Amino acid sequence: MSYDRVRAVDDEVAEALTGERERQNDTLAMIASENHVSEAVLEAQGSELTNKYAEGYPGERYYGGCEYADEVETLAIERATELWGAEHVNVQPHSGSSANMGVYFSVLEPGDKILSLDLTHGGHLSHGHDVNFAGKLYDVTHYEIDPETGRLDYEALARKAEKTQPDIIVSGFSAYPRQVDWEAIQEAADAVGAYHMADIAHITGLVAAGEHPSPVGIADFVTGSTHKTIRAGRGGIIMCDEEYADAVDTAVFPGAQGGPLMHNIAGKAVGFGEALEPEFKEYAAQVVTNADVLGETLQEHGFSLVSGGTDTHLVLATSATPTRTSRGATPRRP
Ligand SMILES: *Cc1c(COP(=O)(O)O)cnc(C)c1O
Repeated sequence: MSYDRVRAVDDEVAEALTGERERQNDTLAMIASENHVSEAVLEAQGSELTNKYAEGYPGERYYGGCEYADEVETLAIERATELWGAEHVNVQPHSGSSANMGVYFSVLEPGDKILSLDLTHGGHLSHGHDVNFAGKLYDVTHYEIDPETGRLDYEALARKAEKTQPDIIVSGFSAYPRQVDWEAIQEAADAVGAYHMADIAHITGLVAAGEHPSPVGIADFVTGSTHKTIRAGRGGIIMCDEEYADAVDTAVFPGAQGGPLMHNIAGKAVGFGEALEPEFKEYAAQVVTNADVLGETLQEHGFSLVSGGTDTHLVLATSATPTRTSRGATPRRP
């Protein structure tokens, strides 16, 4: 893609797009929530499906001419089912936050209680931060990371659940470098009759590749973004048991969204297809290995890591004590 057709009508945007491509190619930006999609995903996302209204679901749309939209969405669903093994998949959420909204709208009423990890401990805005719709609509309390170990304290979480009697416990995190014990959180939810939503936005790709234990089949709902470790382009996804399928689908459309972003769903279909190839498993394993080596090396250079290391694609480095490196340079703050 050369942006020639954009340039022909709009120099300024073409310049910015070209600049962004160069920036992405020439900069080392290790943002854990970002990834680079393939040219195939890019092409699908740039397709004519952006023109198509397809409110509804495959086979039951409110618009004519949806035969190809149906095909694309069905492929995305089938491939997601193969990747993560859920009974039911909804690929329409516009983003990870919209996926979480879809789950909340499917089983909660305004004023219901959410128990989730504090944002400053690694949670996400959509888990009920004050400035977010979830914080405004629901009654939110938080569990925390053990300050000694930098890890989740599952017993403290269970005690908090006992005390606050939430309607839903939210697990899955934005800034947590360790494997999550989904079963321990499910037990805490079962003990108080709460739903459990596992938001695997960051680790979708690692879970799909078997590099991180899967909450599918354990938690009632699993949500994710599709642009992080799974690298299938910007968007969201919800997975759940068949018993919640109708509630989730209705909550997403017409509950929270209008027409699905069919061009992005095409990107998801292509990206999920790529992730089903054996190379993706190698890629995901390599991502974890690289993060581990990065963490080790940072520690050798005086940084301290929350929890002392990583099991995933992300490293949480807190501080650097200025020490001389082998080349005599002083490490900079991250
Ligand atoms: C990234 C992320 C999301 C999704 O965010 P969007 O920007 O709305 O796609 C949701 N939950 C968690 C835990 C995340 O890290």
